[in-house]
Amino acid sequence: MAEGSMIDTASQNPVFRFAPSPNGPLHLGHALSAILNHDMARSAGGRFLLRIEDIDRTRCLPEHEALIYTDLAWLGLSWEKPVRRQSEHFAEYRAALTRLIDLGLVYPSFMTRGEVKARVAAFEADGKHWPRDPDGSPLYPPDDRDLSEASRRQLIAQDVRHAWRLDMRRAMEIAGERLDWLETGDDVGGRVAADPSIWGDVVLSRSDAPSSYHLSVVVDDALQAVTHVVRGMDLFQATSVHRLLQRLLGLPQPTYHHHRLIADPDGRKLSKSQGDTGIAALRAAGATLSDIRATVGL
Ligand code: GLU
Repeated sequence: MAEGSMIDTASQNPVFRFAPSPNGPLHLGHALSAILNHDMARSAGGRFLLRIEDIDRTRCLPEHEALIYTDLAWLGLSWEKPVRRQSEHFAEYRAALTRLIDLGLVYPSFMTRGEVKARVAAFEADGKHWPRDPDGSPLYPPDDRDLSEASRRQLIAQDVRHAWRLDMRRAMEIAGERLDWLETGDDVGGRVAADPSIWGDVVLSRSDAPSSYHLSVVVDDALQAVTHVVRGMDLFQATSVHRLLQRLLGLPQPTYHHHRLIADPDGRKLSKSQGDTGIAALRAAGATLSDIRATVGL
């Protein structure tokens, strides 16, 4: 069966999206993702959207965004306009955060990364193991979750920098049973049980970035009526958090299709810093569109 053919065509108005972050040049993995989304949208008679995920205002640059448009056009893709740019929609993410705060599911956290690191190191010095999330980062310590309301208010009044985190334990209690998603990806098919607890108390907003990836992606997928999320396998585990947020915020659930990742010749995952697998670099070196399609196995 052709890749991506297992889409759920029950949806009346299929909407697909490719959602890159303009923090570096697109590479072959992005090419696979973008082409798959585009082709699946066409064969389902649906829409194909491009969304620029630029909430990180320090790492996302206008020149990277401009190159995304050039690269995608060169790949032969066309998308609906205007393009949604997340940096223009912080108020919408803030409204979702406020809803979660009002539900008592989010709390202000005050420890810096350095403090968390030191705490974990001290704990592990005794030979014990501190849990890590699927990306390898230590789970956030429970201290701030258990702070009194008065202490929270006092710290905020003193202007102590803080992030807003999801109280995962509470959120999962409220979300209730049977949190899962429909997966049509290459490796797994059918309903997949979500387990957001592996991520601990995820950040939903920081003092220097008013929304997190997790929060903005679920808000946007709902606002843009996305029915099919097609993205790399590296985001498979994040889907558990997305399903939880969708349940808490009363948002519809898309179908998910996590596709294979493209590795470099040494078998490592591609990254934006590896210029030689960048689409623009390959184009400059004389690669044609069919070379790119063949390299990513399409
Ligand atoms: N912006 C994310 C990235 O560039 C992708 C988000 C998604 O497809 O859900 O990795």
